[in-house]
Amino acid sequence: MDTPAHTATHDIVIVGGGLVGASLGCALAPLIERYALKVAIIEAAPLPAPSPQAEWQPSFDARASAIAAGSAERFRRLGVWQAMRREASPIKRIHISERGRFGATRLSADEVNVEALGHVIPNAWMGQVLHQRLAALDLEWHCPAKVERIAPQPGGHRLELSDGSTLSAALTVLADGGRSGLKEQLGIDSHQAAYAQTALIANVGVSEPHRGVAYERFTAEGPMALLPLPGNAMELVWTHPAGEEKARMAMGDGDFLTALQQAFGDRAGRFTRVGKRYAYPLSLVTAQEAVRPGLAVLGNAAHALHPVAGQGFNLALRGVTDLVETLEDSLAAGGAMGDMATLGAFDQRRARDRRGVVRFSDGLIRLFGTTLPLLPQARAAGLVGLNLAGPLRRDVIRRAMGLER
Ligand SMILES: Cc1cc2nc3c(=O)[nH]c(=O)nc-3n(C[C@H](O)[C@H](O)[C@H](O)COP(=O)(O)OP(=O)(O)OC[C@H]3O[C@@H](n4cnc5c(N)ncnc54)[C@H](O)[C@@H]3O)c2cc1C
Repeated sequence: MDTPAHTATHDIVIVGGGLVGASLGCALAPLIERYALKVAIIEAAPLPAPSPQAEWQPSFDARASAIAAGSAERFRRLGVWQAMRREASPIKRIHISERGRFGATRLSADEVNVEALGHVIPNAWMGQVLHQRLAALDLEWHCPAKVERIAPQPGGHRLELSDGSTLSAALTVLADGGRSGLKEQLGIDSHQAAYAQTALIANVGVSEPHRGVAYERFTAEGPMALLPLPGNAMELVWTHPAGEEKARMAMGDGDFLTALQQAFGDRAGRFTRVGKRYAYPLSLVTAQEAVRPGLAVLGNAAHALHPVAGQGFNLALRGVTDLVETLEDSLAAGGAMGDMATLGAFDQRRARDRRGVVRFSDGLIRLFGTTLPLLPQARAAGLVGLNLAGPLRRDVIRRAMGLER
């Protein structure tokens, strides 16, 4: 039987306590306090005992993420930046190039008068900091517990959990990464375009100090990124045509380092060691609807992008803060939680940024992934041109910093 609107057990239920769901929980702190909101987060993977190397759930695994300057500012407002920056490496310069071609683009923090264009932070560390902050807030945790069924009902949604409990929420936020089947249960379609590429991720040692340089290099096999980590270490994101990563995953460390050196060249110095390797199949997935009455879709559930431009989480965090600001405006004006006027305003506020970032990331991959005869020259010219001036260059800098255009 349907629960009547006024008996929703919760004002907000967040499905997924990964990077996005946990950030949203932290961002809701002032509203929880001011309006005594009843908020729950449901996370399927168990929390481990805290340790700097802890790998514990899909969001907070061995990856490190490039966190744009705009995102650092958002984390600062959430009260977590001081702790985050303890394990963060500043990006002072970004070097974009194409293997075997003349032309490179350098973007530097100095030219835009900032201390850093962004920071690289291990996901596991971000997870610990966010969850420590969450533990201090007055919100409910269901973990480990999976949302198995979701269905609309008057005044919100009804959620059935794997631990046998049932919740009803005026506003449900899907931050489940998009692979749990909940969008499909609700009949929300997604546009999917496989890149036919797999990203191989590993932590690598380098012989030279990286001096805060992040590299993006476009090779015949696909794009690679090397991001600075504390000490003489860098995070490698190496894209392979789907299936071809298997041989590299299986190689001994010595052979892997030789192959990496060949593909990347010696601009970052000599690769001296490699940590555990992980593989992520890549596709562009965009949900066709980001809001419905009583429902908002955030993070990877709304948009999963190619990782080479480092945009996915940065875009999602802008969505998190925009959602909270829109809810705040609505509550201050006496609006009801989850009403479509509020969620529609939120969606409108996000649409331009979301479209821009999806086009930018996808366009970058397609521009550098094409093998038409004249394109290498055009790309090199583009890179050189990018180094001189022009709107594309400004666009790249602004996107790298996590600013909307
Ligand atoms: C290789 C790689 C490198 C990347 N690098 C960057 C980068 O440098 N910068 C950047 O901005 N972005 C980067 N990204 C993108 C970034 O990782 C994602 O945007 C981010 O992880 C999305 O977080 P999320 O919380 O939406 O989803 P997820 O990380 O998938 O987390 C979803 C959470 O929901 C939980 N869950 C799932 N189903 C259920 C359920 N039914 N009930 C309860 N809980 C559930 C899961 O256990 C998980 O904890 C990268 C992505 C990849 C693949």
